[in-house]
Amino acid sequence: MEVKFTNEKITDHIYRVYGLGDACMYFIKGNERGLLVDTAYGVGDLRKYIEETFAVPYDVVITHGHADHANGINQWDKVYMNHLDIELYKSRSEISTRRTLLKKRVENIDEYPDELFQTLFEGEFLDLNEDTIFDLGGVRVEPYHAPGHTQGIMVLLVVEDRVCLFGDACGVMTFLFRPETSTVSVYRDTLNKLLAMKDRYDRILRQHGTCESPLSLVEENLEVAEEILNGTDDHVPWEFQEFKVFIAKKCDLKTAQREDGKSGNIVYSETKIR
Ligand SMILES: [Zn+2]
Repeated sequence: MEVKFTNEKITDHIYRVYGLGDACMYFIKGNERGLLVDTAYGVGDLRKYIEETFAVPYDVVITHGHADHANGINQWDKVYMNHLDIELYKSRSEISTRRTLLKKRVENIDEYPDELFQTLFEGEFLDLNEDTIFDLGGVRVEPYHAPGHTQGIMVLLVVEDRVCLFGDACGVMTFLFRPETSTVSVYRDTLNKLLAMKDRYDRILRQHGTCESPLSLVEENLEVAEEILNGTDDHVPWEFQEFKVFIAKKCDLKTAQREDGKSGNIVYSETKIR
């Protein structure tokens, strides 16, 4: 059993990297340095693949501490991640947790031995905050704090390519119900912040599903957040894993397509509104 990695070029400097499972990663390559964004579930030798494929000195940044984004990091000595998500990363890093998550996408995950799974990070977390700007040579990457999905989640603006990497911060089904999420009210502030930056990006890239969304995604999520706060959303009950949650706008659960044709939607808990 071997884990295969692949990539596709998205813009002048951005490559999307695929490994095992549904969460993609990105590599941003400048003239002098690179930046690996996320490490997915941490199965297989991602480091070897990145170094053979891109062949530039690089840093590693993690958008947020969830198991499907952060678990490959023990292949490096130092990684950037917002310190607010460190405990979250540690709490979701067991191999059994990752196997359970992967099972939905990789039916034969049990055939992959434990040795292929990266273990708990023993290196140093460097704080990723809005002052941590990466100049890669011909392309700069600016991180912005975007709390909601987790407390420490960051989006990355790839300035010269006019692209914003949203990660899980704002999606077609933004999840706002786990213990680590912020309230809808705090998330509304984040959406207003992303909206205020809209003249700086023309494309939104994400890490799940189609991995890209139209620019209307932010305004649509904002509209939905306002509806939840006003109590005027569709408020559709749903059970996800052990959570009893609500979907703000009626949609097809398989495709996440909203009945009214718009894209942005929020899944939330009644205890996490204000
Ligand atoms: Zn996440």
